[in-house]
Amino acid sequence: MFENCPACGSRQVGRVGGERFYCWECCIEFTLSKRGIRLFTLDEEGTPLEFKTIGAVEGV
Ligand SMILES: [Zn+2]
Repeated sequence: MFENCPACGSRQVGRVGGERFYCWECCIEFTLSKRGIRLFTLDEEGTPLEFKTIGAVEGV
């Protein structure tokens, strides 16, 4: 699983449930899907807003 944040490279990453992870450094959530790593920001109400997908992950 994730050891580093895909956005900033920090190791301050924790699982927030299921396949969702949270970076304490840049305050984003991310999930791993077959199509790549999806990055989310959280609005004031904590609703995830997708802002970026990092390439397809091969061989998963
Ligand atoms: Zn980060």
